[in-house]
Amino acid sequence: MPIIPSAHESIGPRAIVLFGTPEQKRQWLPKLASGEWLSAFALTEPEAGSDAGNVQTAATPSPDGRGFVLNGEKRWITNGGLAKVLTVMARTPVEGSPDTRVTAFMVTPDMPGFEVVETRMEKCGVRGTATSRLKFTNMYVPRENVLGKLGGGLRVALTVLDFGRTTFGASCTGTAKFCVERAVAHANRRVQFGQTLGSFELVKQKLADMAAGTFAMESVTYQTAAMIDAGEGDYMIETAMLKVFSTEVLWQIINDTFQIHGGLAYFTDQPYERLLRDARINTIGEGANDVLRAFAALVGMRDVGLELKGIFEAILHPWGNLGRITGFAGRKLSSLLTSPKIEVEHDDLAENAARLGQLIGTFGGQVERLLRRYRESIVDRQYQLARVADSATELYVSACVLRRMDQMLHLAPADQTPHHDRDLAAGRYYLRTAARRIKRYLYELSDNVDADTTPLADAMLEGKGKV
Ligand SMILES: Cc1cc2nc3c(=O)[nH]c(=O)nc-3n(C[C@H](O)[C@H](O)[C@H](O)COP(=O)(O)OP(=O)(O)OC[C@H]3O[C@@H](n4cnc5c(N)ncnc54)[C@H](O)[C@@H]3O)c2cc1C
Repeated sequence: MPIIPSAHESIGPRAIVLFGTPEQKRQWLPKLASGEWLSAFALTEPEAGSDAGNVQTAATPSPDGRGFVLNGEKRWITNGGLAKVLTVMARTPVEGSPDTRVTAFMVTPDMPGFEVVETRMEKCGVRGTATSRLKFTNMYVPRENVLGKLGGGLRVALTVLDFGRTTFGASCTGTAKFCVERAVAHANRRVQFGQTLGSFELVKQKLADMAAGTFAMESVTYQTAAMIDAGEGDYMIETAMLKVFSTEVLWQIINDTFQIHGGLAYFTDQPYERLLRDARINTIGEGANDVLRAFAALVGMRDVGLELKGIFEAILHPWGNLGRITGFAGRKLSSLLTSPKIEVEHDDLAENAARLGQLIGTFGGQVERLLRRYRESIVDRQYQLARVADSATELYVSACVLRRMDQMLHLAPADQTPHHDRDLAAGRYYLRTAARRIKRYLYELSDNVDADTTPLADAMLEGKGKV
């Protein structure tokens, strides 16, 4: 269910809110806000999935210069066949050059040439949503329907998706809470070997992990949403980390809930198989998690220190400008990488804060070492980028958890939720377990089996042997 409002409220009209002219906002937003119209965001095509820049739908200027003629197809568009307004990405020519660039257009289904090939494609989960295939044949779109700058569509798309990812944190937290409640109830009710399931340590471990993961994803959602609400301009790394973290923790939580319920969960009169099917899209949609990992690591490393700025601007554009990175090798950056002092108001958290500061310092040092070792080729070192991203994510989430706990410890008893103490315990448990994971990721930057991974995968890809 969250996907329908997510497509309609989050990615659908967001482009108009962020990039629309006053006239466009007046024209489109009131009916979208009232719910009278549904909206959709149409980026994906057969040849443009994770590689959003490879959109093939063509927008050719009309002979009278007043608009564009669109030809192409879009697939897997949520609400695509139901929406009254769609943000559609298409390629427009660049004046005075053979190049083309992606531009965002506002499209309505009454435009001649707009065709819904399929309104509801059959799919694994989220079956309440309508995922559509669309086709545009010589579809005329007036120039005033261009959203943002001509050729600026990729920026529109990526900014919109930055927003969209925050909603994953909220929807995953809601589902995780449902799972925790159900898993606890079942662990208390079901008796095997003369004991309730909850009396077994391996069940307790699952419950503790579930509580910690749920508290952590809620904390990071609050913090990231607050950052956006406060008008902080640059939150693309945080929303990417939030999305990867929440969707993967939820997947584990659903899996554990399933396990605790045993065979019961396998039957369709229970909600658990549906939860699994529905949650599976989370790690793929609005930026596949592995793509976001590599992206977050590269962009995040830009912030290791101000001196690196130029170098990482180059890394941010990995397919050009690589030469700038090579100047990096001989620089002395250690001075930039000291452990920060994490401020907390409540003394109970001082030790946690000190530990987090140390971990951040260690992380910075490891990132520097990595960059010295790989220099420009870091762009393609995805095994390492994933470790950097995963440790950075746990550091970010830890900071959000710590901050929330600090606030919770100052609440008067009357303002505390019924789960106050349990939530604090979950926060502490998350911080301890996250620190262990971070150390492991950092350790594996130098002690790993990467040298064996590539040849095995390559042998498989080349069809050698009987792998
Ligand atoms: C139910 C549903 C609803 C959707 N709704 C919309 C919508 O409303 N609007 C819209 O525009 N799109 C929508 N999509 C499309 C969705 O955004 C894409 O599926 C997603 O962007 C990934 O593209 P892809 O599926 O083509 O995967 P691909 O790009 O083919 O990637 C497949 C896998 O390859 C790996 N991979 C790819 N690139 C890299 C890389 N650089 N590094 C490492 N690994 C990589 C990842 O593991 C990835 O999961 C929807 C999809 C579904 C299933």
